Amino acid sequence: MPLDRKPAPNDLRAFWMPYTANRQFKSAPRMLVASKDMHYTAADGRQILDGTAGLWCCNAGHCRPRITEAVQNQVGELDYAPAFQMGHPLAFELANRIVDIAPDGMDHVFYTNSGSEAVDTALKIALAYHRARGDAARTRLIGRERGYHGVGFGGISVGGIVNNRRHFGTLLAGVDHMPHTHLPENVFTKGQPEHGANLADELERIVALHGAETIAAVIVEPMAGSTGVLMPPKGYLEKLRAITKKHGILLIFDEVITGFGRLGSPFAAQHFGVVPDMITCAKGLTNGVIPMGAVLATAEIYDAFMQGPEHIIELFHGYTYSGNPISCAAAIATLDTYAEEGLLTRAASLETYWQEAIHGLRDHPNVIDIRNMGLIGAVELAPIEGQPGKRAFDIFVRAFEAGILIRVTGDIIAMSPPLIISEAQIDHLIGTLGEVLKTAA
Ligand code: PLP
Repeated sequence: MPLDRKPAPNDLRAFWMPYTANRQFKSAPRMLVASKDMHYTAADGRQILDGTAGLWCCNAGHCRPRITEAVQNQVGELDYAPAFQMGHPLAFELANRIVDIAPDGMDHVFYTNSGSEAVDTALKIALAYHRARGDAARTRLIGRERGYHGVGFGGISVGGIVNNRRHFGTLLAGVDHMPHTHLPENVFTKGQPEHGANLADELERIVALHGAETIAAVIVEPMAGSTGVLMPPKGYLEKLRAITKKHGILLIFDEVITGFGRLGSPFAAQHFGVVPDMITCAKGLTNGVIPMGAVLATAEIYDAFMQGPEHIIELFHGYTYSGNPISCAAAIATLDTYAEEGLLTRAASLETYWQEAIHGLRDHPNVIDIRNMGLIGAVELAPIEGQPGKRAFDIFVRAFEAGILIRVTGDIIAMSPPLIISEAQIDHLIGTLGEVLKTAA
């Protein structure tokens, strides 16, 4: 590091931080300077237990040697190769490796750089797929309330977050939303809730309103993460699959959070036994080390494009950094690490322990709901009157001071630790959160 570069600079003005309360942060910065396995090191030298796998992405924990080494070697060997009309072996190897662990039928991989790009790519593929088949009237896209599909215009349009409409106004036209799946009768359910499969019938209502022949795709997170860990009721995803199939509508699962072992299977599609037509993923694909996302698609979709003269570009879409060699090297080393350590199924064996630990917070002050599945969980707090989000944000700040990293969205605390977490570390994470909830009350 050059001598004039300090690890924690004093002048914080220039950096406009994403999805951050900039003024609050800059008045009391929470700076991370190093990481290893389950821990971050804060600028003041404290060890912080990572209860969120970074941003739901460092599934194998931090600074894992295989991944670090693969990236270091790749930078010195082939730093970049044009993504268009040229190839490099790692991109093909990685696509095969992803298909190997993906649900049966997901046979093709299109690379992006993020989850947002994966979502917009999947939506574009859906529109172009119908056109390629002569079904150009299918332009309508259906999302769900409280869905988070990243920050591209496609993603915020099908996403169901009111702040996006407040901040950015009218989004894509021709988009509808199904109701979210968070029902009061399911509070404090352990695992998948019983009530609410019938919410999928709303899709039939939307189909009846617009006509199936106008609808291109339905996109949902099989388990909604970013808007507060909202579970699919038993039977709900199966119904969505049946209705979309019946009407020739493509079903897209946004697995940016659930992909790569979060629920105890490589993908949530396998966990729930429901296979969509496309899956979007990112985050855990490279263990968060290098930006990368992907869209997985069936052979039926891919083959629909492989028509016409061979020199013609079949899908008019791609990014300069689609499948760049360093991302591919990181992803292959990540998949190796997951395989060696059994991480893609480890959440299944820890699920009961995690569940009992997190539900142990039920009687703590202001807790109004707890939800869990695999190695993900949420603790919902009663909002302070007139100050939505304030209670959970204060807990987040105090938790960091107490040495644990959690995440909050509104008044919901979400946790999704790296899949290498030990039972003792689960106790420490939940125990510390419990103490913070008590002292903050
Ligand atoms: N889709 C889902 C379900 C997500 O949870 C996220 C990010 O949290 C995204 C898309 C966007 O991913 P990115 O931030 O990599 O663009």
